[in-house]
Amino acid sequence: MLGPETIKNMSDVAAWRAAEEGEEPLIVWHERDLHHAPFLGDYIPAGWRRARWDEGIPKPSRWVYAIDHEEACVEVDSSGFGDDREPAMTYTELAAYAPAVQEATDLDVGWAIIEAGQFQVVLGIYVRDEAAQAKGLPSEADVTCGECGTIHSDLEECDEDGYDALHEDDEDDEDEEDDQPETRGLPVAVGQMTMEDAS
Ligand SMILES: [Zn+2]
Repeated sequence: MLGPETIKNMSDVAAWRAAEEGEEPLIVWHERDLHHAPFLGDYIPAGWRRARWDEGIPKPSRWVYAIDHEEACVEVDSSGFGDDREPAMTYTELAAYAPAVQEATDLDVGWAIIEAGQFQVVLGIYVRDEAAQAKGLPSEADVTCGECGTIHSDLEECDEDGYDALHEDDEDDEDEEDDQPETRGLPVAVGQMTMEDAS
């Protein structure tokens, strides 16, 4: 399982990259659009804000956690093995739901991944708001690897050459505290964060 710290780290690194690349929540008119939903983490670009359920966002039919005044998001199975008895939506349910949300409102509704776990992703629902400022960008320090000095997530391979080059002059520090979680070898690749069509 991915621990909460790793999941947060993956989300922050994704947020940083999304901001650098100018990613924005994706407007979904058709199921196929969902495959391109960006991973924004907690980052919200300027011109967008999180939608609340009570501003005309229809709730999923069997969604028990949708509280009117709260920010709208849905939990979706990303393993392909979920079924409709589980709390997370299946991809098939999402594929029907997301375009229906856009059809139901005059707002420009956007979708993005807030958090990606091993088997589920949390998809945030956003609305376009010209007055909204960007927010939620993690600090550079939070996303910079303490070992190689570049920006990558705990699940991505550290750049060994970069590490050697950076540290060749301080071999003595080799045994300093090593409280980094051992994440190498986990069977989760970044590519799995994008949702595969489960149908
Ligand atoms: Zn590194």
